[in-house]
Amino acid sequence: MAEVVLRDLVKTYAGATVRATDEVSLEVADGEFMVLLGPSGCGKTTLLRMVAGLELPDSGQIVIGDQDVTYLEPRRRNLSMVFQSYAVFPNKNVAENIGFGLRVRGTPAAEVRRKVEWAADLLQLSPYLDRYPAKLSGGQRQRVAVARAIVMDADVLLMDEPLSNLDALLRLSFRAELKKLVGELGTTTLYVTHDQVEALSLGDRVAVMREGRIAQCDAPTAVYDDPANEFVGGFLGSPPMNFLTGTVERDGSKLDLGGQSLAVPHALSTFAGRTLKLGVRPEAIEVAGGDGALQGELQVLEPLGSSALLTTEICGQPVKVQAPPTFRAEPGGSLSLRIPPEACRWYDPETSLLLE
Ligand code: ATP
Repeated sequence: MAEVVLRDLVKTYAGATVRATDEVSLEVADGEFMVLLGPSGCGKTTLLRMVAGLELPDSGQIVIGDQDVTYLEPRRRNLSMVFQSYAVFPNKNVAENIGFGLRVRGTPAAEVRRKVEWAADLLQLSPYLDRYPAKLSGGQRQRVAVARAIVMDADVLLMDEPLSNLDALLRLSFRAELKKLVGELGTTTLYVTHDQVEALSLGDRVAVMREGRIAQCDAPTAVYDDPANEFVGGFLGSPPMNFLTGTVERDGSKLDLGGQSLAVPHALSTFAGRTLKLGVRPEAIEVAGGDGALQGELQVLEPLGSSALLTTEICGQPVKVQAPPTFRAEPGGSLSLRIPPEACRWYDPETSLLLE
């Protein structure tokens, strides 16, 4: 096992005008499960491929354990990779597939057999060791690819969207299995996905990427509850965080949203006379009257089974509210909405950074 340290990694592909990764620095602790999350094209795969040695950075440094591996050949980095397209050999059975890398490495047959049986047991593949991939389900094939990676005893496990070819149900069950497995193995892991639920579920920490940079790297609850900037708040969550813009009143105590106002924390009273953005998660807004409640107009109500999703407007600004599943009201009417002070996150509209 080993820690992975990335320092100022810059990569621009030939002919490209923008950097695929732009001075990315990241430290993954020994045994940590780090997820790289972000929209398509933000540089996740490029970063992973540089760690694997399949791409070389223009500048920057990659250290695994105590070795600088920046320009080292892939096979000398002692890492295993699992790709999105579960590349299993169709003409080899499950046992041969799992043991392939070990045999190439010249591992004695008895040792190969022992490790294949260990991995097959962990991934519930023992009954299928003699089967060929054509007779396996997608989930079983993907488990073969994971088994093949873990038998290598690598210092670092790299996974690029390993669940994305599975259907929704299989994904869900395999996600939990993978979490359990990686927890047991304790191998340092870098895991790429664009699926936020997967990222929050699996990661010890999640590095949210945007345009070749890391927008925030923290524990799942921290990136969700305290997005460091508007991008992260607007990327995580389904629906994502609401943002309301207003002007802080002259005495610094309230935010005027355009006819209705909301208390501003004392620490932000220096923003008096300036604009501020309020970020609030849809599930944190209560449909309730009382002190400080705002009036919103209900436009659409979508019953979603476990909740009711409301599309509303407050002072002409769109706001999504996640209400209890039994909530019913007629669209077009008015609603009292309470935004609890503890659920408010405040952003500087100029920098889009979290203030409070
Ligand atoms: P996705 O989730 O769609 O796989 P990603 O976050 O993994 O995206 P990358 O594949 O790392 O993103 O791509 C980052 C940027 O580099 C993108 O703008 C992409 O178009 C560009 N890019 C990736 N591979 C190449 C390549 N081989 N040649 C030229 N440009 C590339």
